[in-house]
Amino acid sequence: MVIVMRRPVTPENLERVLTLIEASGLRTHLSEGQERMIVGVIGDVRHFEESAVERLPGVERVVRIAQPFKLASRTYQNGGSEIAIGCHAASTPSNVGGRRLALIAGPCAVEGREMLLDTAAAVRKHGGTGLRGGAFKPRTSPYSFQGLGEEGLKLLAEAREQTGLPVVTEVPAPEKVDLVCQYADVLQIGARNMQNYALLQEVGRCDRPVLLKRGMWASIEEWLMSAEYILARGNHRVILCERGIRTFETMTRNTLDLSAVPVVKRLSHLPVLVDPSHGTGYVHYVAPMAMAAIAAGADGLLLETHPTPDSALCDGGQSLNPEQYATLVAMLRPLAQVLGREI
Ligand code: PEP
Ligand code: MN
Repeated sequence: MVIVMRRPVTPENLERVLTLIEASGLRTHLSEGQERMIVGVIGDVRHFEESAVERLPGVERVVRIAQPFKLASRTYQNGGSEIAIGCHAASTPSNVGGRRLALIAGPCAVEGREMLLDTAAAVRKHGGTGLRGGAFKPRTSPYSFQGLGEEGLKLLAEAREQTGLPVVTEVPAPEKVDLVCQYADVLQIGARNMQNYALLQEVGRCDRPVLLKRGMWASIEEWLMSAEYILARGNHRVILCERGIRTFETMTRNTLDLSAVPVVKRLSHLPVLVDPSHGTGYVHYVAPMAMAAIAAGADGLLLETHPTPDSALCDGGQSLNPEQYATLVAMLRPLAQVLGREI
């Protein structure tokens, strides 16, 4: 059960709510966001009389939620969330989850200035609403390129200055959150970190939207529970991203679970993006699966693009070149229109 309190919440009103709940032998969890304060009620609430708390001053509504994920659920919020991205002065803001599809594209890793600025210009020119690029690259091999670190973040900020594209970049560890927040418009949590609870809690206290990728081993419920960690800490701006899961299939890098899109849409109000680059691992499968993702109801795409994929330091085989990226966007436009969306 969650209790939504109207802002501003006075200490007296909050105290009355907490006292009533705790007097019933239940525990509380406060989630204090910018727009609302939520009191989570923990314990066996079957015999708790919600009308008593509903009558208290400052209480907006009381919602009983059967699922283990509460704040992420459609029961908590029936309409789909629209999440604003682009908090930096140079950013052109947009919403993820509204009518307009989010197209967040860019290289797997920021490799240098020229390649990044060229990519950003192409993304801007062809419908892009965000620039992706890893400055910290948690790689499977310790010998692979690990990213440019803060230098990469500075280049992303420069690309934003030139194009207005909000920057989406991965934060790899709790101790890097403050640094990445200085540069990023959206904090990406990588698939490998989906259940790094210390990291989820740390981004949960930030005022930046979070792009939460699904772990390659994670069930949809586990993924939504990870979102819940961030929401429960008071950051209500979570964007989900399906990026493929591990199966027995070897013809693709991962199995892109597009059924997750309608499933999540039914269970949760959070917007969902799809990453067909990591989801398939091969450039020739990216466009068909991108189209399928939008047809399945995704709110947008996370795409890897590189000016010269053959010489990319990371994930070149699944990266679109600028021309392929432009062709895909041209194919997506009429599809979006049929679906009542736009690019
Ligand atoms: C990425 O988006 O560059 C990335 C590393 O993705 P994932 O965490 O899904 O593997
Ligand atoms: Mn990649």
